[in-house]
Amino acid sequence: MITLKELTNKEDLFVSGHGLCPGCGIPIILKLVLRATEYPIVISNATGCLQIASTKFPATSWKLNWIHSSLGNAASTISGIETMYRVLKKKGKLQTDTEIKFLAIVGDGGTNDIGLSSLSGAIERGHDFVYLCYDNQSYANSGGQRSSASPIGTSTSTTPTGKVLPGKLQYRKDITKIIVAHKLPYVAQTAPWNWEDLYTKAKKAFDIEGPAYLNVLNPCPKKWGIPSNKSIELTRIAADTCVWPLYEIEAGKNINVNYKPENKLPVTEWLKSQNRFKHLLNIENRWIVDEIQDEVDQNWKWLLKQEKRGINN
Ligand code: SF4
Ligand code: MG
Repeated sequence: MITLKELTNKEDLFVSGHGLCPGCGIPIILKLVLRATEYPIVISNATGCLQIASTKFPATSWKLNWIHSSLGNAASTISGIETMYRVLKKKGKLQTDTEIKFLAIVGDGGTNDIGLSSLSGAIERGHDFVYLCYDNQSYANSGGQRSSASPIGTSTSTTPTGKVLPGKLQYRKDITKIIVAHKLPYVAQTAPWNWEDLYTKAKKAFDIEGPAYLNVLNPCPKKWGIPSNKSIELTRIAADTCVWPLYEIEAGKNINVNYKPENKLPVTEWLKSQNRFKHLLNIENRWIVDEIQDEVDQNWKWLLKQEKRGINN
């Protein structure tokens, strides 16, 4: 296992000068992921907070090869580049023997909604790449609209809580499970409070041949209504309530639940920590809290059961 000292001694490939909000989880997630391979990385980054904030002309925060993709096609872009690399290598036309890693980085809007077909296609074709979704559960960059990753009851700019709505009325799309159904070599869900878990999963994702998917909870002080100095530790509450379980599935069948809270907390602990959910604590919205608790409990039970018997049995 790597130590924090060893990690900090590795070269930082995403450097200062970006305009991401104070307390945003993205740079921390990224600094860990980019340290998880020794090989050069080529990145396809979809439009979103990260892309906008890291490439304000004429500056850049990237110290590696980086391509801006549209919201919907980061996975297609990286598929094409990975294929070109593979073909040139086969034909002996590369000037170096160095292995290259390919990484698509996309938010939840570009992953769950707009880019789902390009992601699904790239995984199904078996390209050798890592897909990193930083999931802040909204279209944070374009005004905080609901995405299909926003949980039921979330107050967003398009589902504002008030007399008409109690927040979003639909359930969150569980993208990790949708990706698991593709039976790819590696899928993992993680969060930045557990840097060892995040780093280890990113390393596995880079090391495994074929497509690998990482879904990382990205705390967003601006749209979640949380203090910027609490964002990372808040993602631990997501794990302690089992709202955001840390787990991984290898080869489409072996599932490991990587963190099991000693005291599983009620979902109200998660909801009360953020302004986007605070209306749910009013008595008239109790039914939504019950729905959320039920969904979380069912999912947690399912994960523990699959861990025991294997996902395909
Ligand atoms: Fe990060 Fe949210 Fe700010 Fe985007 S809006 S940079 S996700 S804190
Ligand atoms: Mg988002």
